[in-house]
Order: sequence, then structure tokens, then C-alpha cells
Amino acid sequence: KEGPLSAVTRRVLEAVCTTLLNQREELNTLDRASGDGDCGNTHALAARAIQEWIHSHVIPGCPGKVLSALAGLVQEHMGGSSGALYSLFLTAAATPLSGRSDSAAWADALHAGTEAMRRYGGADPGDRTMLDALCPALDELRKLSEVPPGGEMAIWQAAVQKAESGAESTRNLTARAGRASYVAAERVTLPDPGAVAVAAILRTVIAALGS
Ligand code: ADP
Ligand code: MG
Ligand code: MG
Repeated sequence: KEGPLSAVTRRVLEAVCTTLLNQREELNTLDRASGDGDCGNTHALAARAIQEWIHSHVIPGCPGKVLSALAGLVQEHMGGSSGALYSLFLTAAATPLSGRSDSAAWADALHAGTEAMRRYGGADPGDRTMLDALCPALDELRKLSEVPPGGEMAIWQAAVQKAESGAESTRNLTARAGRASYVAAERVTLPDPGAVAVAAILRTVIAALGS
């Protein structure tokens, strides 16, 4: 029998998969301008693998275990640089969520995941990557330590907006990591697909939790 946390997890994951599948063409178009045009496909492969997993497995009640399982799925099925980077991200993000799943633990998870992505991927904020959505969101989440009880959701919503404006800001950035770094800067006037996907995932997770 599925516990209440597993039911929430299922709802969130299903929503994320729907978002990624709906964005497939948009992400491919963005990646065509700056990379090899497959960013929507890699994310769609992850979404299909997650959908298949949801329907054939009992979802663990512990969020850390869920993230570890997702790390394995994206490692195996997503492909691309984003597959490897998401796998590292999710593996690291799982650790702060063993035995805790409050708002602060999720912020710690996002922080640990982003640090792992930075360490192994070698990019910095401003390099036109997923980090340009993640890092501004993390900045906002620092406010969680000062917020009165019950005010956490507003901070998470603000963090989503920071991720979206961070993704949007990559229009003006020259890529210094990933395939986009091989494309001449003057040809890229669209935002980075990986950053756009990160912001969309965050928005979807927060919206699904609030619904
Ligand atoms: P590939 O580049 O192998 O085709 P995808 O198209 O799935 O992989 O993903 C490309 C996205 O990966 C880029 O838009 C960028 O946001 C992200 N990315 C690439 N390299 C890095 C890195 N070193 N750190 C963080 N994100 C990165
Ligand atoms: Mg690509
Ligand atoms: Mg590729």
C-alpha cells in the first residue's frame, strides 16, 4: 500500500514528466541554436523512463530513495551531457534527504546537487548552463532560515521566479561549457535549453506540491 508521501511524489513526478514531454520541441529548437538539437529528446527520454518506473514500481516513501532511483534512471536512459549531470545532481541531492524531508532539507538537497554538478561538470554561473537557473534559485532559498513558520512556500515560489529569470538571462551569455561553447556567440540569441528545462521542472514541482 502506498503511503501519503508516495502519493505526493507520484503526483509531482507525473507533472514533471508531462512538462518535459510538452517542452520537447521547444527545448530541441533552443538546442538547435546553441548545441546539437537534442535537448528536448534527452529530457523526453528521462520523462518516459520515469513514467515507466512510476507505473511498474512501488514508490519509496523516503524522498532520498526516490532521488537515488531517479539518478539511476537518468543515468541509464537520458543520455547527453544533461543525463550524466542530472545523475550526479540527483545522487548528491539524495543525501540530505535521508531521514528529513522538510523545506530546509529540500533546500540542502538542491544545494548539494548543484555543488556536485559544478564540481564534476566544471562550469560556473554565467557559463550558459543549467547552473544559471539553479544558482539564482539557491540564493533565494537562503531566506528560508529567516522566514516565519508557514512562509516557506512563498520563498520557494520566489526561487522558481529566480530560476526563470536566470534561464532567461542566458540569452545574453556566451557558452563556456558543453556543446554550446563550440558555437559562435553572435549566432546564439535564444536562452540555454538546459537552464530553461531546470526552471520548468522547478516551477512544475512547486505547482504540483501546492495543488
Ligand atoms: P548534449 O549537450 O550532450 O547534447 P543535452 O542537449 O541533453 O546534452 O543538454 C545540453 C544542456 O546541458 C545545455 O543546454 C546546458 O544547460 C547543460 N550543460 C552542458 N554542460 C554543462 C555543465 N558542464 N554544467 C552544467 N550544465 C551543463
Ligand atoms: Mg544537446
Ligand atoms: Mg547530444
